[in-house]
Amino acid sequence: MTDLPNYELYAIKYASRAGKRSENFIGGDSHDGPMPMAYYVWVAIGPERSYVIDTGFTAEIAAKRKRDHLRCPVDSLKLVGLDPAKVTDVILTHLHYDHVGNFDKLPAATFHLQETEMHYAVGRYMRYKKLQHSYEIEDVVGMVRANYAGRVLFYDGVAELAPGITLHPAPGHSAGLQFVRVHTKRGWVVVASDVTHFYENMETYRPYVTAFHIGCMLEGFDKLRAAAPSPQHIVPGHDPLVMERYKAPRPDLEGIVVRLDEAPNA
Ligand SMILES: [Zn+2]
Repeated sequence: MTDLPNYELYAIKYASRAGKRSENFIGGDSHDGPMPMAYYVWVAIGPERSYVIDTGFTAEIAAKRKRDHLRCPVDSLKLVGLDPAKVTDVILTHLHYDHVGNFDKLPAATFHLQETEMHYAVGRYMRYKKLQHSYEIEDVVGMVRANYAGRVLFYDGVAELAPGITLHPAPGHSAGLQFVRVHTKRGWVVVASDVTHFYENMETYRPYVTAFHIGCMLEGFDKLRAAAPSPQHIVPGHDPLVMERYKAPRPDLEGIVVRLDEAPNA
C-alpha cells in the first residue's frame, strides 16, 4: 500500500445551471427550492503520468442545452499545468454529453472506457428519446471513429490503469458508468462522477432523475462507500458544494479549481 504513488487531484468547474431540488431526485422533493448544478472535469497528476477524467461539453452544446458555459474544460487543463496537446490518457466515466464533449481537442489521448458504455450508447435503448437525450450523437460517433483509430481502450469490470489509479463500474445512471479511485497523500479519493450527482443523492439514497436502472444506482452508492476510506473521500459529480468544501490551489484559481487531495472542510 505505502509504495503507491500519490497523485495531485483537481476538480475544474467549467459550467453551471440553475435547478430546483424537485429536479434532482427521483420522486421529487417535498421541500422544493433552488438546487443549482455544477459541471466539472477532474485531473490526477502523478510523478510519472497524468490522467484527465472526463472532458466536459463545448460552448456550442452549452448554448443548445441552455447551460452556463464558464470556460473550455480542455483549455482549463493549462491551469493545473497540463498541455492539452500532450495529454496521453483520458478516463471517460461515461459518454453523456457533459462528460465526453471536447474529446477531439486532445489529439494525443487514448480514451479509457467501460465496454458496456459504448454498447449502450450505440445499442437498442438509444431509439428512446428519454435515454438518448443525455447523449450527443456526434460525440458517440466520434468515439466510434476514435475506436477505429485504435484510440479507445475498453474495460470489462474493475481495472487498475496504473498503481494508484483504478476504475470501477457502477452502472445505473447509464449502463456503463464507471467511477475512478485515485491514490493521494490523504489516501484513496473516489471521483464518483455521476454515480452520485450531489452529496445528497448518496447520503439519502435518492438517485438523480436520469436513470437507466434504479436498483443499480442504489447499489452504486454502496460501491462508492466501499471504495472510499470515509465519506469525506467521495467527490460527487455535479455538486456546487465541492467548490466550498475544498480549497483552491492558488488565490487566482478561486471558484475555478479545487484540490481534492487535501482534506475537505466538511
Ligand atoms: Zn453528468
